[in-house]
Amino acid sequence: MGRGYVTALDLHSVLTWAPYPHVMTALLAATVALIIDPVLRFRDYRSLRCSHSVAGMVRFSGTFMLVFLQIVALFYLVALLPGPLRLLVLLFSAFITVIQLSYWLTLAQFMTATDLFLALTVSGDHRVAAMLSFFKPLVFLYTLPYLLVLSVLLVVPPGYTFPGTLFPMLLAVLYLVVSNFLLFLHVPERSFHLNPLTSFLRTAFHCGFEKRRGYRGPRDELPTGQDSQRPRDSIIYVIDESVRGSNLSLNSYPRPTTPFLQDLEAQGRLKNLGICVSAGSFSHISNAYLITGHTAFPDDDYQTDKNPTIFDYAKNMGYETLYIDINRIYLSTLVKAAGDGPVRGLDRWMTEKSFKELRIDLDTTKDLGVAGYLSSFLNEGSGYFILVNKKGLHFNYRDRYPDNSDASIWKPVMKASHAIDPSATGREKLVNTYDNGIRFQVDEFFRLLVSETTNQNYALLYTSDHGQTLAEHGQTYTHMKPDQEIVDVPAFLLSGAEYDKQGLLDGIASGIRVSHLNCFATLLDLMGVPDSVRVRPYGKSILALTAEDNKERYYMSGSLHGCGDFVVKSISTPSNEGWGVSRPVNRGTNDENKTYSTA
Ligand SMILES: [Zn+2]
Repeated sequence: MGRGYVTALDLHSVLTWAPYPHVMTALLAATVALIIDPVLRFRDYRSLRCSHSVAGMVRFSGTFMLVFLQIVALFYLVALLPGPLRLLVLLFSAFITVIQLSYWLTLAQFMTATDLFLALTVSGDHRVAAMLSFFKPLVFLYTLPYLLVLSVLLVVPPGYTFPGTLFPMLLAVLYLVVSNFLLFLHVPERSFHLNPLTSFLRTAFHCGFEKRRGYRGPRDELPTGQDSQRPRDSIIYVIDESVRGSNLSLNSYPRPTTPFLQDLEAQGRLKNLGICVSAGSFSHISNAYLITGHTAFPDDDYQTDKNPTIFDYAKNMGYETLYIDINRIYLSTLVKAAGDGPVRGLDRWMTEKSFKELRIDLDTTKDLGVAGYLSSFLNEGSGYFILVNKKGLHFNYRDRYPDNSDASIWKPVMKASHAIDPSATGREKLVNTYDNGIRFQVDEFFRLLVSETTNQNYALLYTSDHGQTLAEHGQTYTHMKPDQEIVDVPAFLLSGAEYDKQGLLDGIASGIRVSHLNCFATLLDLMGVPDSVRVRPYGKSILALTAEDNKERYYMSGSLHGCGDFVVKSISTPSNEGWGVSRPVNRGTNDENKTYSTA
């Protein structure tokens, strides 16, 4: 303790007597940061040995130097601030360091621009859920050394003087902007980074640069002049959230998670399309492709911002359009982009708030509140096109079904506040909780919707935005990465007993492989959109797929527009071992032989 005091005093004396105390302090803190980082994040540095071509090493050393000077510039700016403001900035820096290291402990990387973009645009409870799924107390242990480095910056007295330090400060800011722009242009985001704070700053700049590069004009128009009568049928497009296809007993999962859907299939009302490949590993990407029909990865030409939406086509064909968005993921950004004006092609947009106004409490009823509303809506009339973005099974799973014994079929379950624990016991709880959620949010949702809908002239296309890892290979993240379990989603078509175009569904070939890229054209076919109105070459419709199509089913993860960190992968035919299969639990018990109540 005494020794530490003397050292701090010496440090203080040295730094204040040095000719440029703030530069010296920044240099010293940056150097300490440089030394502790490889100790703490040893595995990242070890993996660097793979890149040892001369050009690679030169490039790496350049980036390394550039980033080291960023740390110096940032610390220099902080050191000049007056006491209280500096303390505030340091507290914020500590918070960012905790977030960055939480990301790193869970996903083996710091936050990317896409992560930051999502964190800023998704709804509040998604943010809380993400933090809960990521949080590990161990993170504080990792944060501590970085905090000690930051505390060095408290030692020097404030140094800002006008105009004395104005020029060097501007120079430091300019350096941070220019060096980050260079990184944005030339260095992939996923490449190694040596400090959580400057990495975050880089991410923030990257977001800003990417936004400036984006497309902000109107979407392409559809040809007009169609004389479309209001159709007699209704079409419903249900995009679920975080539902893994292979956890549905409809897709041979050994637990009876979807008995109602299986009954519908037996009655010929449901055409199961098997395990579908989602377009992306998180909601934003998948919804962008599902709603605009784009088919190339990544979307570097901003087609998902330029294509007409599915609502535009529905309006064009005479449908009245309704969007039920209780997940607030993708179209919320469209609504924001429309400002106070209407979203083109959309007659009505309903959020959780609209349900509150109708006195439907979604906190209690979960997605079943939407199913009940939807059926009463369909019973009132015809000629609707309705898109539903469900809340589904977004983590935390325990919050997605009610607290009664009927809904807790598989036990033990996780607590709502628990983070993902990939151990055998943790995984058993995780999967039990998830399966209870599927039974409620998927099977019971359709049981209510189908049995309460008396107007039988409708067709419904169902899929999920992406699946979940369920810690199958020890992952402590639920989605966001390009693992094959994450793009494993359900897909089926469902119809009312008096659906006009049942023949279309009956004609679907057997043995087909479906991906999200087939959904848009399927909806256009169901609406009867003529070729002359289709302004893009969309993916093949499910109604036209043959067993020869989709030998490779592509998907992507990371930056939608290919700015920075992204990866494009595919599910090939024949597929990898384990594709499209989910295992309940691994505790030596044979789950298939257990009996379950199916009440
Ligand atoms: Zn999602």
